[in-house]
Amino acid sequence: MGAFTDKFRFDLDGGRVSLDFVNTVSGMREIAPREKITDYRDLVYWAQQAGVLDKRRAAELYADAEQHPRKVETAFVEAIRTREALNAVVVAAVDEKPAPDWALERVDDWIAKSMQHRRLKARGAGRFELEFEDDGDPLFFLRPVAADAADVLANLLPTGRVRRCGESRFGRCGWFFLDGTRNASRRYCNMNECGNRAKQRRFQQRHR
Ligand SMILES: [Zn+2]
Repeated sequence: MGAFTDKFRFDLDGGRVSLDFVNTVSGMREIAPREKITDYRDLVYWAQQAGVLDKRRAAELYADAEQHPRKVETAFVEAIRTREALNAVVVAAVDEKPAPDWALERVDDWIAKSMQHRRLKARGAGRFELEFEDDGDPLFFLRPVAADAADVLANLLPTGRVRRCGESRFGRCGWFFLDGTRNASRRYCNMNECGNRAKQRRFQQRHR
């Protein structure tokens, strides 16, 4: 798996893991989407980079993928459908429109099912932690992503701090991010690409 796991680094600029999950399509979905997760192994690789899956478990899942290609293909299709539903809900929210029913239903279902796998683990006397169980489901590692999505939708969207990249106005980037700046001034998903492109455009306009 060495060669494979070195192949690509995901951008994790969303500030929340559920937004980073949505951001695994580059460009504007509505215009020219560029899919970054093309199979189950990519999904595992993303999860590992996003910090919801450890290296040892990821290695086991890569091996599973070899042995049960059909099972993981089904899981992959499910994960992408869920991601697209979450995207549709977030897009609608930042546009201040009601979420499409199909998308909301799917996201709600995903969150509800994921929460059923939240378990209290004793970590010594008087110390407990809530953990998502790994019951061997091929998408178990997306459960904390669902929990994060629930928090983003219920608690962060109303603050207006979840925003779409400013390059979306030019049809170039549809990524979402949580603006953590004190004066709510962040406009771009990241400064080295989108922010820089906007800066160059302003420069060209000034010197035209
Ligand atoms: Zn951007």
